[in-house]
Amino acid sequence: MSAAVVAAGLALSACGGGGGSDAGSGSSGAKNVVAKAKSDKKLVIGIKFDQPGLGQKQADGTYAGFDVDVAKYIAKELGVEESGITWKEAQSAQREDLIKKGEVDFIVATYSITDKRKNEVSFAGPYFIAHQDLLVRADSTDITGPESLTGNKKLCSVKGSTPAQNVKEKYAKEVQLEERGKYTDCVTSLLNKTVDAMTTDDVILGGYAAQQPGKLKLVGKGFTDEKYGVGLKKDDNESITAINNAIKKMQQDGAWKAALEKNVGPSGYKIPEPPAIS
Ligand code: GLU
Repeated sequence: MSAAVVAAGLALSACGGGGGSDAGSGSSGAKNVVAKAKSDKKLVIGIKFDQPGLGQKQADGTYAGFDVDVAKYIAKELGVEESGITWKEAQSAQREDLIKKGEVDFIVATYSITDKRKNEVSFAGPYFIAHQDLLVRADSTDITGPESLTGNKKLCSVKGSTPAQNVKEKYAKEVQLEERGKYTDCVTSLLNKTVDAMTTDDVILGGYAAQQPGKLKLVGKGFTDEKYGVGLKKDDNESITAINNAIKKMQQDGAWKAALEKNVGPSGYKIPEPPAIS
């Protein structure tokens, strides 16, 4: 029996060390995130690849944004250098699955803490609070808030995201919701006029508006509080505490504010105060 246990352990750590598809902390006695970071010096972290200022793949193959900087800071505090991080794209609808299947160790991807998601995964944080908003074409005059999404207006959002859910629950009867896989698909539709507006968090929309000067504008009526958390396997309490400590340190030593000013500041987004960590 002990040989089988040892063999299983070896197989798991071999996968984890490779940064491959089964690199997370398994539920069957495998290491949690803190233990894995400490022993392997490697982590697989889920981020967005197409959200400027937050998580974006660069032309040279590196990754940049506030979420990326938060992830790097946490990794370092857990004992993992940048070179030990494997970045994995975590689209909105895939996040819970990626965590549950152990394909990522944790996710830092504009991921709102919600009760529904807490049934499947756990969260550290919050490390930032954003607000759902609308992005429209610069020449649009009739969309001034969610209540103007009446008649035959077409609104784009992303599958598995809280804004799409919110619109379905509160405005679905009126608005025609078009759900896509990721936000850049909505930006394309907005620019080529197949939709009238797109919705997600203001800090994400601000990044797209800044990329299209004179073409897109933020409505600026934040109508929810989206508390961004670091998503990880359910009930990995040791790692939640360690990640919370890292976030607190990042807030206190000035790195949190500096990362926001560097990544999100250029879009004109007003940098808020750091949220209290629960
Ligand atoms: N914060 C929202 C969410 O977690 C919207 C942004 C996103 O889809 O990543 O669903």
